[in-house]
Amino acid sequence: MNVYGEHIAKLIEEFSRLPGIGAKSAGRLAFHVLNMPEERAESLANAIISAKQNVKYCSICQNLTDSDPCAICESVKRDSSIIMVVEDPRNMAAYEKTKEFKGLYHILHGAISPMNGIGPNDIRIKELISRLNDDVLEVILATNPNVEGEATAMYISKLIKPLNVKVTRIAHGVPVGGDLEYIDEVTLSRALSGRQEM
Ligand code: ZN
Repeated sequence: MNVYGEHIAKLIEEFSRLPGIGAKSAGRLAFHVLNMPEERAESLANAIISAKQNVKYCSICQNLTDSDPCAICESVKRDSSIIMVVEDPRNMAAYEKTKEFKGLYHILHGAISPMNGIGPNDIRIKELISRLNDDVLEVILATNPNVEGEATAMYISKLIKPLNVKVTRIAHGVPVGGDLEYIDEVTLSRALSGRQEM
């Protein structure tokens, strides 16, 4: 039996399924929502539903987008000869903030991690390989500087090298174990400009 009744219990349960939200935080969020004015709660619920219904993957770079192809892939101002490979859309957003990179991106949506049962076919590697035509001169591997990110970079570089495309890895100015999303723009710019051929 739940002391709060089933509606509140359900709300707490849904929040507790979110990453990084424990039972206590889930309860706090649920009561926060209940104390919201009705229209704010509705706006939150609608934002979740409309994002779920309208956001799709760009068929080129695999970024999450409202329109396919996404704005970056479609822009004539971007240099289509360079593709930067990142693990997730937040990493891409971090590089975009530096305003240093004018090429295109490819989002893997994860990294190879045998420990967690994630193999090469579970992330968007084959979609990357299929983009490598004669126009692509360089692929920058900007996966996170941790064990999974390094393993993923190694795996991809072995696949791409025989195709005669230059493969580079971002410099290790980025702290080991760091997540690119949380690294400041200056460090990211340095990591990019200091990239080395693999
Ligand atoms: Zn795209």
